[in-house]
Amino acid sequence: EKRKQLIELDKKHFIHPTSSLKHQQEHGAPFIFTEGNGVYLTDITGHRVLEAMSSLWNVNVGYGRAELAEAARDQMKKLAFTNCFSSMSNEPAIKLAAKLANLAPGHLNAVFFTSGGSEANDTAYKLARYYWKLKGKPQKTKIIARKKGYHGVNIGATSATGILSFQEMAISPAPDFLHVGPFSAAELKKLIETEGADTIAAFIAEPIQGAGGVNIASDGYFQEVRTICDRNDILFIADEVITGFGRTGKMFALEHERVVPDMMLLAKGITSGYIPLGAVVLSDAIQKELTSGTDGVLLHGYTYSGHAAACAVALKNIEIIERENLVENSRIMGAKMLEGFRNLQQEVNIVGEVRGLGLIGAMEIIHPATKLRFPVPVAPEVSKEAAKRGLMVRTVVFEGMDTIVFAPPLIIKAHEVEELLHILQQSLIAVQKKVMA
Ligand code: PLP
Repeated sequence: EKRKQLIELDKKHFIHPTSSLKHQQEHGAPFIFTEGNGVYLTDITGHRVLEAMSSLWNVNVGYGRAELAEAARDQMKKLAFTNCFSSMSNEPAIKLAAKLANLAPGHLNAVFFTSGGSEANDTAYKLARYYWKLKGKPQKTKIIARKKGYHGVNIGATSATGILSFQEMAISPAPDFLHVGPFSAAELKKLIETEGADTIAAFIAEPIQGAGGVNIASDGYFQEVRTICDRNDILFIADEVITGFGRTGKMFALEHERVVPDMMLLAKGITSGYIPLGAVVLSDAIQKELTSGTDGVLLHGYTYSGHAAACAVALKNIEIIERENLVENSRIMGAKMLEGFRNLQQEVNIVGEVRGLGLIGAMEIIHPATKLRFPVPVAPEVSKEAAKRGLMVRTVVFEGMDTIVFAPPLIIKAHEVEELLHILQQSLIAVQKKVMA
């Protein structure tokens, strides 16, 4: 009864983000979750699922962490918020900035706070352009991003996003955003030559593309990118919004390649989703320019830049990640998950390529006879079967893809990985029977 009421209210009043609103109107929200614990969520009917996406790749420390609630409560009782404009400050923001500087590699030592990843992206583009202006090169304005990349939904972030359907909704994307193929450093080099390095402010990339289907570049790609950017005086921005905070088995994904960007964008796992927060960690050189250039005034700031309660939660969240060795757990459990995917590839004919690094992975669905995709995506059928059996996964079906993606909380244990794989196997077999009948 309560569920029915909520569904009616949901349909009438709640515009869901990034959703089929038509589907919502016709079917209502399929899950109204009421509780979370570890890697599990329970909905209003009492149905429990192993949540293999950390919600939106962000609940890294898992659900139901009382410690994070207490960190928020303690800070809110003392001082929930004070703005950080005009040199005002607060203790959690200062400590978190110092902590991030300490965690971030190399010369990344200064932090600008936002409320999420899209804001971190727009901030980075503005700062990149402003940096070059301060250096006497105001014509360096173009931002090169990658096809299939995802950077968020503000106008800037949408314009950088290389998944075309998102750009189409913006009707008129912002000027000066260009896209290259996601895996070819040679293509990037060529585009820079064609456009002229003196017109380009920055190159932005996710170390592993998340929303685009967990696309992993080959070893050495980011080292080549770093060299190309250095040779052409182009800033390299790493969007670690998904890959940061242990997701790939390192604290930050570019550590796998020993590459240090000029700016690193963080959100999601920074608080494990317990409260909204994002950050741009920038290099000493950029900080120096911003501080000393013209009159050293920065006309860019959100009301919530440096939110005290959000920063307190982030500090506690990072403490948990370190205390519980979750980066290492991500590496070990990720290897186990990928090995399981490889076994499924042998066992189930509709499983094509599988890939992953740490606790982020993907599985392609293919037609066994042709080894090509089915005419209509099949991954959503697998997802439905899995949900019925107690497993939540996500599918990627834009631009002809037919992919299941995974990013379970970094606390996942060996027996929970086995449960994930078992339900996945049962769901794949059920769907295979149906589509091959
Ligand atoms: N960048 C990446 C790589 C993301 O995956 C996302 C969100 O999924 C964003 C940026 C946008 O972050 P937010 O949704 O917090 O604005």
